[in-house]
Amino acid sequence: MTVADRLPPTTATVAAAAAGVDTSTGTTAEAVALLADRPLVVLTGAGLSTDSGIPDYRGPGSPARTPMTYQEFVSGPLAQQRYWARSHLGWGRMRRAEPNAGHRALARIAPELLITQNVDGLHERVGTPRLVALHGRIADVVCLGCRRTTGRTALHARLAAANPGFTERHAEVTVNPDGDVDLEDTAGFVVPGCESCGGVLKPDVVFFGENVPAARVERCYAAVERLADAGGALLAAGSSLTVMSGLRFVRRAVRCGVAVVIVNRGATRGDPLATVKLEAGCSEFLTALDSARLDARAS
Ligand SMILES: [Zn+2]
Repeated sequence: MTVADRLPPTTATVAAAAAGVDTSTGTTAEAVALLADRPLVVLTGAGLSTDSGIPDYRGPGSPARTPMTYQEFVSGPLAQQRYWARSHLGWGRMRRAEPNAGHRALARIAPELLITQNVDGLHERVGTPRLVALHGRIADVVCLGCRRTTGRTALHARLAAANPGFTERHAEVTVNPDGDVDLEDTAGFVVPGCESCGGVLKPDVVFFGENVPAARVERCYAAVERLADAGGALLAAGSSLTVMSGLRFVRRAVRCGVAVVIVNRGATRGDPLATVKLEAGCSEFLTALDSARLDARAS
């Protein structure tokens, strides 16, 4: 039996993250000092994009929510209609999101590898080098029939043309970090198929219940392992580390003797493993870290 990397969060972990307890084990100064002058691998999650207006549905105060699983998506046309109707509205908002100070600081810091769990494409937009989008990008679409990948902008235009007035009728919905929205009434939404083979189109992202492609995971493990000899550190920023797809890199770092700093608002599953855990916003912390690294290089 294979266990998928991404399983939906349990109610208990969501509740713990929402409890608002300060779980810090160090100060900003200590965390910055630890990371200022060494090679870094950085893992980012939804908390990095909240300052871009994309809500973090696992962060403190967020409503509990269960995203569609891969198994549900492939179960048939009704699930796909439900997915695409909601995602169509979500994409209309998400594509207008702009990178924030945290994204820009990380692009300047230019870690040995930036691993992001976010599918919003905002790290890409600021030209971050050496980037792995662990869960893919919501801007890409894959055909489950012929595996051809296409751009979301083209599909968005096809969806809009096939469903006139749909977006206008649902202008008030809330967008989630995976590009989904809270909407129940999706009957009648028309979902076009692949233009090459007529197959089922899926956003090219790793759904809950799906595994991250092995080559992608190996590239990340290798970068984390190289930190051991280089005296480097792993920084996890804005991720609750609820799913194994991110937590495993923290575990690998610890096994290799690599220091781990976790910056997040709310408890994370990695807290017991962290060298320093900081309750802080990503934009402020990363901006401070970027300045400290510039100073360290200049001295
Ligand atoms: Zn196809």
